[in-house]
Amino acid sequence: MSLNLIPGFTDFQRTYSELSQLPFFRINEGIASNHITVKGRKMINYSTYNYLGLNGMSEINYAVMQALNQYGTSVSGSRLLSGEILLHQKLEQKIADFIGVEDCLVQVGGHSTNVNTIGQLVCTQDLVVCDALVHNSIIQGIRLSGAKMIRFKHNDMSHLEQILERFRKKFQNVLVIVEGVYSMDGDLCKLPELVVLKKKYQALLMIDEAHSIGTIGVGGRGITSYYQTDADEVDILMGSLSKSLNSCGGYIAGGKSLITFLRYNLSGFVFSVGMSPSNAAAAYESLDIIEKCPDLIERLTKNAEYFLKKLKALGVDTGLSDQSPIIPLLIGESEKALWFAEKLYDKQINAMPIIYPAVKETEARIRFFMTAAHTKQDLDQTIQAIKEILEEEKHMHSNECYI
Ligand code: PMP
Repeated sequence: MSLNLIPGFTDFQRTYSELSQLPFFRINEGIASNHITVKGRKMINYSTYNYLGLNGMSEINYAVMQALNQYGTSVSGSRLLSGEILLHQKLEQKIADFIGVEDCLVQVGGHSTNVNTIGQLVCTQDLVVCDALVHNSIIQGIRLSGAKMIRFKHNDMSHLEQILERFRKKFQNVLVIVEGVYSMDGDLCKLPELVVLKKKYQALLMIDEAHSIGTIGVGGRGITSYYQTDADEVDILMGSLSKSLNSCGGYIAGGKSLITFLRYNLSGFVFSVGMSPSNAAAAYESLDIIEKCPDLIERLTKNAEYFLKKLKALGVDTGLSDQSPIIPLLIGESEKALWFAEKLYDKQINAMPIIYPAVKETEARIRFFMTAAHTKQDLDQTIQAIKEILEEEKHMHSNECYI
């Protein structure tokens, strides 16, 4: 076996020398919130998803320390076999109650929650129809399952219906997968239409709420609350604990029978260690704070609305972003986005470029994650910096000459 036979290995070697010039794996020296410290420089930060600015709060740290003192750093086993602690059950019940469903199961990673769960829910006789822009973890899960995958045009409900109409009868089970808030574009799925279609074609509906839980809906209750739809209209609600909940892990929430099935059968859960006490405590305490302080979500929404309005006033392309804390500034080619991010960095603004292959080469962007912690001064300073960079760019182009 040669390493060169590993898919993508040889191509990666060719780009090796360029990696050090990319702005990735920069070391963050403190708590990443509206500000971040890199190489001793305090910067305004838009590149982490601490949406509510709660990470590092003394109440959360205290809850984590209590869990550490009681249980240590690991539950040291599968939950099925002696790794269960009361905190797991309390966290799961709290998430289920928060969303408005019967039950919930937490797992150690957000990405792996999608891979494990989708990988197990469908099989080779089934079809998964997913939005063209769903996250990598969803695609990996579908691949693992062996189910046939068809992607519908982003948020295009008539395309989804065409696919369901044409293929529904050919497969034993059909699973439709979308995201609550799309992670690269910051727009929302069209839940009311999705519910109608899933019922009409007797499909299951799964929504990844990684970026919608804690950020939209009443008190941050997510996409079903945003659309005032009963949460049990959605068969499978997935979420990550690493964003608004300041922890690490994922959950699947839904009806009791589905969750009980997963609790006893999901291989990535049964044959893996239970969530660490500190991660469970951090998520539990964060959710408790969110329940008590709905104004955090209002602050996040206001910041996002303000920033989007100011960006639009500059005449830049913010793509599809609407009503969400994810705001992209569409730039074009990857190289240009890298240049733009570097200019922002020089002005003490940390906003990461999203480049090919994460997005199409023509759709490279700077992605701004808004937080409830950003101040008006942070946002105004950033808008001013963007304005200056745009002017510099215009000036550069006006000096171009062609011979
Ligand atoms: N789903 C979506 C839509 C995501 O954006 C991400 C990662 N940001 C995940 C799942 C995986 O979550 P985690 O980072 O907590 O593993």
